[in-house]
Amino acid sequence: MPAQLIDGKRLAQATREAIAKDVTELYSQSGIRPGLAVFLVGDNPASAVYVRNKKKACDIAGFYVEDHALPATISQPDLLALIEKANADPRIHGILVQLPLPPHIDSGLVLRAVSPMKDADGFHPYNIGRLVEGDPVFTPCTPKGVVRMIESTGIPIEGKRAVVIGRSHIVGKPVAMLLIHRHATVTVCHSRTKDLPAVCREADILVAAIGRAQFVKADMVKEGATVVDVGINRLDDGRLVGDVDFESVRERAGWISPVPGGVGPMTIAMLLANTLEAAQRAATEGRV
Ligand code: NDP
Repeated sequence: MPAQLIDGKRLAQATREAIAKDVTELYSQSGIRPGLAVFLVGDNPASAVYVRNKKKACDIAGFYVEDHALPATISQPDLLALIEKANADPRIHGILVQLPLPPHIDSGLVLRAVSPMKDADGFHPYNIGRLVEGDPVFTPCTPKGVVRMIESTGIPIEGKRAVVIGRSHIVGKPVAMLLIHRHATVTVCHSRTKDLPAVCREADILVAAIGRAQFVKADMVKEGATVVDVGINRLDDGRLVGDVDFESVRERAGWISPVPGGVGPMTIAMLLANTLEAAQRAATEGRV
């Protein structure tokens, strides 16, 4: 029997509707509207699409959005000065710096310049540390979305064998942390992993965050496993596919997320969730 679909698009829509209600409630109680400052540097077409989708979702949910579309030639000090301004602006609760940044800008330095209290993407070392401690303030959006998708199946994570393929700071490592804190037994794989298919076949929960089109085949998947596909890859014929060979794997998995319509929409919904949570904290703590 083919796997059941983890419908990220539908889950994201429901999440965004719930967020929009919370925005209305927060505003009526405190006069605070969640505010997101978005920094897009240069004219990378993929980044422009991501930013457009994120801003649109914020508008629909009733957020205040401050848009910084900056030339690729902006100097690092000028960019840092704009981020400092957003850090100090009480209307802003979340700051998003769309990556990649141009090569003359030190991305690490810029991400560390974002106030940890407004770090909507959860990339600041302070927030990564809190995540490792199991007491996160901001959880990175894609990993947070991945875990919500797994939880949406209703299958308990506790006690399960989980395998995460990919060890990036933005996806693989934080996904592993979140699963560890939910009491899964987690193995993180990467390009030097020996006999990757055998490791993957042990997984009750398999998360693919590799960046290689249709890399995970059915013979790498345990019968009935829950498979979440983070990858976004463009084929030569223009089709968008994930890191999982959806057609073959769906015949073996118990649950599977599609691409498109899986993790991507959830990532945007989690950016909204993080910004709303920051605004709620600001309202209760009475701080910037
Ligand atoms: P990175 O390139 O930073 O990391 C890829 C990881 O995959 C690395 O750890 C790498 O190992 C590992 N890897 C590469 N090739 C192999 C292989 N043959 N066998 C085993 N492991 C391998 O990518 P990201 O984590 O940033 O992104 C991963 C994918 O997720 C991309 O397709 C990206 O577009 C997508 N993505 C999707 C998002 C969404 O919203 N849906 C958000 C963010 C990313 P090593 O460390 O050894 O090099």
